[in-house]
Amino acid sequence: MRATLIGALALIAVMGSGLTLPAIAADEDVKITFEQAQAFGNWKRDFRAEALGQGIAAQIYDNAFAGIELDPKVLRLDRRQPEFSRPIWKYLESAVSETRVANGREKLAQKTQVMAEIEHRYGVDRQVVLGIWGLESAYGSFYGNDNVIRSLATLAFDGRREKFAKEQLIAALRILQRGDISPERMKGSWAGAMGHTQFIPTSFESYAVDFDGDGRRDIWADDAHDALASAANYLARHKWKFGQPAYAIVRLPAGIDYFELNASNKQSAAYWASRGVTLPNGAPIPDYGDAAIVLPAGARGPAVMTFHNFGVIRKYNNATSYALGVAHLGERIAGGPALNLTWPTDDRPLGRTERKTLQEQLTALGFDTDGIDGILGPNSRKAIRNFQRSRGLPADGYASEKLLQRVQSATEGREPLGAQQIGFIQSALNARGYDAGIPDGIPGPRTRAAIAAFQRSVGYQADGQPSMALLRSLGG
Ligand code: CA
Repeated sequence: MRATLIGALALIAVMGSGLTLPAIAADEDVKITFEQAQAFGNWKRDFRAEALGQGIAAQIYDNAFAGIELDPKVLRLDRRQPEFSRPIWKYLESAVSETRVANGREKLAQKTQVMAEIEHRYGVDRQVVLGIWGLESAYGSFYGNDNVIRSLATLAFDGRREKFAKEQLIAALRILQRGDISPERMKGSWAGAMGHTQFIPTSFESYAVDFDGDGRRDIWADDAHDALASAANYLARHKWKFGQPAYAIVRLPAGIDYFELNASNKQSAAYWASRGVTLPNGAPIPDYGDAAIVLPAGARGPAVMTFHNFGVIRKYNNATSYALGVAHLGERIAGGPALNLTWPTDDRPLGRTERKTLQEQLTALGFDTDGIDGILGPNSRKAIRNFQRSRGLPADGYASEKLLQRVQSATEGREPLGAQQIGFIQSALNARGYDAGIPDGIPGPRTRAAIAAFQRSVGYQADGQPSMALLRSLGG
């Protein structure tokens, strides 16, 4: 599904979910020139031969491509590089809004019978299927009104993601050829995610099912029964475990090693318990097999223990925020209470340009991010964590505004000294015969007096303040 896509396609998660788009700069209109229109005509003729070579009947192709022109909106959206990222707490506010919860409960009540049948047939809890439906298309109220052939042909012609778009386009033509849907009803998002479940064509081919038995896999139909069963089938095929939660909010003990808290470090419940991790009320953590602990908004936000089913939801759309949104929306639909989480709302995540600045500065400071691309992958996260550790900060790898400020201070040589560095100054002064007291990292009156005495003796201005210059002059 969309898990196979990266970059710009992350946008579909937003597009298809009916959620508010992040703020973007005014978009330039993409004008289709005469030459482009002509080139697209040639492209369609060439691609026709390719499609026919792959088993698409001429009549199917001609019918699907009748009147298809380049879509300037698709070109514009595909070229857009959003500057700002929405904080996860804002995303969840919208993903699990009271309206979305109420609408989901209403759908569950309306569809009790069919949801029970789907649950029985696929072994997937009904609330997670509703959670996906709620986020993908606001329960079918918004799944995009773009002609899928036109969108994918525009993307394939434009060439930025030619291979992907061509593959999807051929799959879309096969779906038409099989008779699941007519070209007029094959609607989706601008990037080709289709119907209630926002399946891209290859996902449709692999996972869509004909639940009502009319011979067509119709994920666009108003009753959404094929679509809901298809979403359930998708989760079942990715090994959903019935009756198990996707996540639990947990409490971390003081002194936890933050390097251990990342999505790829999966450990047993016993292991985490031995580390002192509990539920927020102090009760033991439940055991649903190996689990990771992630901090989606850093050390000052909630700690989320992710179980097997969390990974299954991420196969649908590979984002922590999405998986948390689907799982929690499902819990709320099933009657569960709202999560009462504390988020660091005063410390927003970085935008694209800021992320590049962060990468540049970390790399210059000797924390190599392995590239300056504005995308924070494992290497950048590791660099952030190593920087944080070197400064005595919780090494949560969270790229926030405050972190960038801290890195900028380091770059400009005006960062505040950490307790360790002050402790070094105290020890160094003591060794030189200035009485700075116990090296406890706290610059009290005795330490300041010792600093002032040292500064006087070497001819510096005697302000008594611990500083980077002082640290260096003491050999630190
Ligand atoms: Ca059907």
